[in-house]
Amino acid sequence: MLIEFGEQSAKKHAVVIGAGFGGLSCAKKLRKSRSCRVTLIDRNPYQLFSPLLYQVATASLPEDDIAFPVRTAYRDVQFVRGEVTNIDTTAKELTLSNGKTVSYDDLILAVGSEGTTFGIPGVAENTFQMKTVNDAREIRRSLLRTYESVEDGLLPLEHLNVVIVGGGPTGVELAGAVSELQREIQREFEHIAPKATVTLLEAGPRLLPSFHPNSSKYTLKTLTRMGVHVQVDAAVTEATNRSLRLKDGKEIIAGTRIWAAGVVAPPHWKFLGETDRGNRIQVNSNLQLSDAIWVIGDAASYPDSNGRPLPMVAPVAIQQGKHVARQIRRRESSKPLEVFKYRDKGQMATIGRRKAVVEMNSWLRFQGSLAWLTWLALHLAYLSGGRNRTSIFADWIWNYIVWTPRRTITE
Ligand SMILES: Cc1cc2nc3c(=O)[nH]c(=O)nc-3n(C[C@H](O)[C@H](O)[C@H](O)COP(=O)(O)OP(=O)(O)OC[C@H]3O[C@@H](n4cnc5c(N)ncnc54)[C@H](O)[C@@H]3O)c2cc1C
Repeated sequence: MLIEFGEQSAKKHAVVIGAGFGGLSCAKKLRKSRSCRVTLIDRNPYQLFSPLLYQVATASLPEDDIAFPVRTAYRDVQFVRGEVTNIDTTAKELTLSNGKTVSYDDLILAVGSEGTTFGIPGVAENTFQMKTVNDAREIRRSLLRTYESVEDGLLPLEHLNVVIVGGGPTGVELAGAVSELQREIQREFEHIAPKATVTLLEAGPRLLPSFHPNSSKYTLKTLTRMGVHVQVDAAVTEATNRSLRLKDGKEIIAGTRIWAAGVVAPPHWKFLGETDRGNRIQVNSNLQLSDAIWVIGDAASYPDSNGRPLPMVAPVAIQQGKHVARQIRRRESSKPLEVFKYRDKGQMATIGRRKAVVEMNSWLRFQGSLAWLTWLALHLAYLSGGRNRTSIFADWIWNYIVWTPRRTITE
């Protein structure tokens, strides 16, 4: 069955797959086109604000705060909830998992990425990933429920230990937040909670490898002061249902094991063109795969000035989404397409309350309270929707004054 929308079929049809950072920014800009109608397809009816997922996992924010409902957000964009399973580039038609098909004139592939375990034995079965709302929910449940089970004598004390794999921004943010959660929860479980530990493992020689070494040093020092056991050069070779084993043979026992060590583009779309080692589809300088197909965000491999693929971060996806919308509109007015140029505005990671690192460029770097306030302000600015922004702002103020773990009635 072919889905057609209203009386608008005289206009060209641009279909965006994925309502994440890239897809949403593209659809938002493209809807202003007079000669093109826009359909946005996503398996979920919301845009997930992944940078704050760790705060849901560590019981600071409710999950609704980081999920922006897209169905009614832009009334001039048709939203279809569904899983795209195939793209027929010859027929210019895509298929949804329910068997329905959608035809397109322009297709924007913005399907993001997924966690990878690098094929390490036991990791897929015995660790939590942190990519979806459901992942964050499972981590929160494990972190909170374990205290009750240990107190009731159903699990040994060592189950209170948490181990996080991956010393990038996600692992660092999570380790700091888990350590703060463990400290706060001592009021509720005073006999057992002081025994809980958190360990952060990084396979490389330093935390935050994409940051300046001084930022890495500050992060290591701050996390260590917060009581996090940080181990670098600590590659994981195996995961079991109670521990992680390192390359030096050491075993780390922990009830909650979280994998935050790397993402790849979904392998499902590799048939569309040449891909890099992370399954990312290689695009031309306009972000095209062909005249009608554009690929953006985490799913696209686009080189920086040194020939390395741009990082898988939200600003890249947003800028690419806007760029593609601009190009489609330029083409409508028979203007030549422009080359995509990424404007790198820097990187940042929060470590805990009043502790963060910010790098605006190679010389403007700062740490501590000012960095933390910058991090808060920029994350609020990047959030979609006034309601989510207001709610998160209120939660942050509350958490700053009186912090208690946010539980749901199912936990
Ligand atoms: C825990 C975590 C923390 C992060 N922190 C930061 C940070 O602090 N700063 C930063 O810049 N970046 C951060 N990132 C990375 C950032 O989230 C991504 O780079 C960004 O989301 C990429 O945007 P995108 O549009 O390519 O994909 P996404 O935003 O992931 O959107 C992809 C969308 O496609 C949909 N989709 C996928 N396949 C299909 C299909 N077959 N059919 C229908 N829909 C589909 C998905 O449901 C999703 O909504 C973080 C990522 C994670 C996981």
